[in-house]
Amino acid sequence: MQKKTEQQRTELKDLGEFGLIQRIQQQFPTKHPESVLGIGDDAAVIDTGTDHYTLVSTDMLVEGIHFDLSYVPLKHLGYKAVAANVSDIAAMNGTPKQFTVSLGLSNRFPLEAIDELYAGIKHACNNYKIDLIGGDTTSTRAGLVISITAIGEVKKEEIVYRKGCKENELICVSGDLGGAYMGLQVLEREKQVFMANPDMQPELDGKDYIVRRQLKPEARTDMIYELRDLGVVPTSMIDISDGLASELMHICSQSGVGAILYEEHLPIAKVTYDTSVEFNIDPTTSILNGGEDYELLFTVKQEDYDKIKKNAEIIEIGYVLPKEKGVVLKTKGEQIVPITAQGWKHF
Ligand code: ADP
Ligand code: MG
Repeated sequence: MQKKTEQQRTELKDLGEFGLIQRIQQQFPTKHPESVLGIGDDAAVIDTGTDHYTLVSTDMLVEGIHFDLSYVPLKHLGYKAVAANVSDIAAMNGTPKQFTVSLGLSNRFPLEAIDELYAGIKHACNNYKIDLIGGDTTSTRAGLVISITAIGEVKKEEIVYRKGCKENELICVSGDLGGAYMGLQVLEREKQVFMANPDMQPELDGKDYIVRRQLKPEARTDMIYELRDLGVVPTSMIDISDGLASELMHICSQSGVGAILYEEHLPIAKVTYDTSVEFNIDPTTSILNGGEDYELLFTVKQEDYDKIKKNAEIIEIGYVLPKEKGVVLKTKGEQIVPITAQGWKHF
């Protein structure tokens, strides 16, 4: 018998999610000139020969990893799954038009559960004016898997990539951050309390805002219209799904720049701040590393400052620096500290 040769085994956690995606990207250069941009941004960009580009984005949610059905209502889950994909289309400065839904289901789910899921999906269809045009249904051994692909469009001259920002431009976000993460902490805590004593009622009083941020986030398509009305085309943009720090690193590495954020300008709702303190989490950590807020992070030229100032929801949080200066945070105590991306470590 032949002796088995020792095969090399590389753990995925050593590459990380971004390392793995980069590796796939390098192995698949695009062949068609119509494939304007493949892997590497919030959505792929396709030229169909009109004055618009077509945008395609896909995302998968897995039970036990991305959601816990013991406190996530199926209706909200359906809504959130669509919103997360719409958010990626918005991050290209685009308008969502169609989407497909693929489900992996086990016999644990009765028809009524699927009806609930689709009630949330329908609500998202109406809210984001987007059409469900297909999908796939298959069975799983146990958990629920939802995969959505969204299709959108953007005028060619208005497309915004992760790359494109330059030194001295302003870094902005579209709303407050850290809420979805703190909402998750509250829901997890109440789950533990409930498991220890099922007679206990969940204590969510006063936490409605952050719980909603976690369970039913909104994609900021409204901000895309707002920027259009203001006559501002951002120089780079990404949506905040993994956390501000991680998304800023994407913009900086793809644009070949550095950045400085000012801690005192980072937007946080009072309830998010108070809940962070209650949980012994530094509020700035919730802002930088808490994910799933689905706000937009973007850069604009200095000359657009007067225009964006008109919208109270657009907050300037820093400036683009030359690459050598790195990606840093100026703390309230005037210290300069490097920003490190945590993102989600899936593996
Ligand atoms: P986002 O957080 O905006 O959804 P991701 O980090 O999931 O973005 O993906 C970044 C890029 O990598 C996107 O262009 C996406 O299509 C691509 N991508 C992610 N996973 C894979 C994969 N398994 N194969 C090919 N491309 C992938
Ligand atoms: Mg994205």
